[in-house]
Amino acid sequence: MDLKEFIRDVPDFPVRGIIFKDITPLLLNGEAFRFAIKSMLEPYKGEKVDKILAVEARGFIFGSAMAYERRAGLIIARKKGKLPWKTISLSYSLEYGEETIEIHQDSIVEGDRILIVDDLIATGGTAKALASLVEKMGGKVVGFSFLVELTFLNGRKALEGYRVETTIKY
Ligand code: AMP
Repeated sequence: MDLKEFIRDVPDFPVRGIIFKDITPLLLNGEAFRFAIKSMLEPYKGEKVDKILAVEARGFIFGSAMAYERRAGLIIARKKGKLPWKTISLSYSLEYGEETIEIHQDSIVEGDRILIVDDLIATGGTAKALASLVEKMGGKVVGFSFLVELTFLNGRKALEGYRVETTIKY
């Protein structure tokens, strides 16, 4: 199955010069969505994963299905001010702007093996910030799984030393 058929390019969104990779056509197709989830999990079949860490907002869609399938816990990383309990936060730069991301302080216990999931890796800034949060809390980053990789933005470089798996490459 060629998942690229289900990714729509939207030029100049959310700002001029960015080609936004819209994953909603993929979500509309049941077979494509299942195939995407399976493909994102496949490389980590043999790995112990205690929890999946997913990023607001599109990361939640893939991360929750993956956590369900793996019987793993799900940690949600949200934008500043959205989580109700005590948080730990980190700021980082995006392909288009600045962002601060938070997770609950009690979401990771020492030694937890965490798989970090998002829909797309661009510069890798988000992913790097999440890895730092996990490690600060005593967790171990098993690796990253992204549906889409924008290879020309060299996100992998920001994640050197980590395992990075991606399903669709541009
Ligand atoms: P980055 O931190 O630069 O790797 O950016 C990754 C985050 O920004 C992910 O949560 C993506 O959903 C979003 N993102 C960045 N660039 C794009 C793009 N061209 N199309 C769709 N989403 C993007």
